[in-house]
Amino acid sequence: MKKITIVGNGTAGVICSTFFKTFWKDSAEIELIFDSKKDIIGVGESTTPSIFEYLKYIGVSSRELIKNTNCLLKLGIKFKNWKGKNTHFYHNFNEPNINHNSLNDTYFLSSAYGILKNEFDNDFYLQNFFLEENKVPQSFPDDTSHALHIDAKKFSEYILSKFKNKISIIDSEIINVEVENNIIKSLILEDGRKIKSDLFIDASGFSRILFKNLDSEWINMSSYLPMNRAIPNPIKKIYKKIPTFTLAESTRNGWIWQIPLQDRYGSGYNYSSNFTTDEEAKKDFDKWLCKNHNVNLESDRTIKYETGYYKNQWIGNCICIGLASGFVEPLESSSIHTIIRQALYITNFYPLNINEFSIKTYNRKLQNVYKTIFDFIRLHYYTKRNDSKFHSYMNESTPDWIKELESKLENSFINFYDFFDNDDLFTTMNYITLCNGLGLIKSKKGIESYLSNNNFLDISKSCYQQIQKIKMINKYNAVDHDKIINSVKNLH
Ligand SMILES: Cc1cc2nc3c(=O)[nH]c(=O)nc-3n(C[C@H](O)[C@H](O)[C@H](O)COP(=O)(O)OP(=O)(O)OC[C@H]3O[C@@H](n4cnc5c(N)ncnc54)[C@H](O)[C@@H]3O)c2cc1C
Repeated sequence: MKKITIVGNGTAGVICSTFFKTFWKDSAEIELIFDSKKDIIGVGESTTPSIFEYLKYIGVSSRELIKNTNCLLKLGIKFKNWKGKNTHFYHNFNEPNINHNSLNDTYFLSSAYGILKNEFDNDFYLQNFFLEENKVPQSFPDDTSHALHIDAKKFSEYILSKFKNKISIIDSEIINVEVENNIIKSLILEDGRKIKSDLFIDASGFSRILFKNLDSEWINMSSYLPMNRAIPNPIKKIYKKIPTFTLAESTRNGWIWQIPLQDRYGSGYNYSSNFTTDEEAKKDFDKWLCKNHNVNLESDRTIKYETGYYKNQWIGNCICIGLASGFVEPLESSSIHTIIRQALYITNFYPLNINEFSIKTYNRKLQNVYKTIFDFIRLHYYTKRNDSKFHSYMNESTPDWIKELESKLENSFINFYDFFDNDDLFTTMNYITLCNGLGLIKSKKGIESYLSNNNFLDISKSCYQQIQKIKMINKYNAVDHDKIINSVKNLH
């Protein structure tokens, strides 16, 4: 029987090992090694709907997680103050009851029509009403794709407890890695044990305990996205109404996240040390906490990170995933999404044997995933703000492709296939939502000429009307988020 050894029990190691066990069942032995003396990073708490796919696949329900692990439903992200003070827009997830595969053109055309008529309300995505009123669609959390706000520690512990009899678990520090010609021969544990395996997965977070011993080029993206520090500070919370969105609030030198969980907000400040000092960042965050939550900064933790990724994420008999593979600031909650995709791709590309073809295909795929994420996050900073050195830098260093996109929007509209090679991540509709939120779709003339040149005017109107009907029914059937959470929690 083949053996796969995963290092790390953070979100990456847990998702990967449980996904593998579910996929390979008894054809592979799954071994998980972690050092309980080293804490998991514990801050990744906002997810995308891929979490629902993953949970469904491994047989864990969102209801179970709500009951046992402090988590809540998430419908999207609110971007506050990105275009200047007192502005906001939402980036939401898919509306239920709309078949997204066969009718993609419908949503795309409907959005064009909605923007043209000043009636755009995230026509592909959940209407803003849900986020503003703390409501969720009636079909949640059972059978419709949704995301979750998770308590990182409780989530990992709970999922792993469900697999504890199926996965071999070793609690020990890896103190050495024996490598020959980029092939890992064995891992040496603190008690002297040697661990051999057919495939090693490095899910050891920023310590990159396996991959740092292999030759893979690190692509440093810090001039593209200069964020490199975060101060996490949870806020105890009793809600009047439980929010359904992650808040990403822009500041002079970065942005603050706020993630609702049942008993607290996961919160923190992301900034770049190129533009502000740690002391200044702490003061700014403390001020924000006081103003918004009437509490002071308590945390003395500063997370330092380097923005970038390994060019080749599969070398010989080792694949890196999660933070070990790379990191992009968490503005669109893309990291856990990437982990789920990495687990899925590995099960597809590793037919329980190693071959060059699969290695190269996997590496190309992951390069594309990271490029897609970096580009989409970079677009958020095209705000034209110059109220700080940070924002001026972000605008002055805007990459050409963003300026070219803006110029295209003067005379046309985003095309359905413009971002088609982005796999399932950040495609046309995400770009329409973000460009509209940032005020980049300002030329009605551009949309009008796109629709009329292609004879889409009538059809876009009827697509729009069709979607509005479904949205009205969904709105009518909306349920309070509090009600859903309380009813799930009180179920025996
Ligand atoms: C500030 C910040 C905010 C974030 N917010 C989000 C978000 O909202 N949404 C999102 O999707 N992602 C977010 N992320 C990313 C997210 O936190 C990670 O993708 C996720 O937690 C997975 O981490 P990990 O499992 O790769 O690493 P970790 O959680 O760091 O786990 C590493 C594991 O490796 C083990 N280990 C390390 N060295 C050794 C050794 N020598 N021997 C044995 N074991 C070892 C440790 O014991 C630990 O179990 C955020 C990240 C940061 C920095």
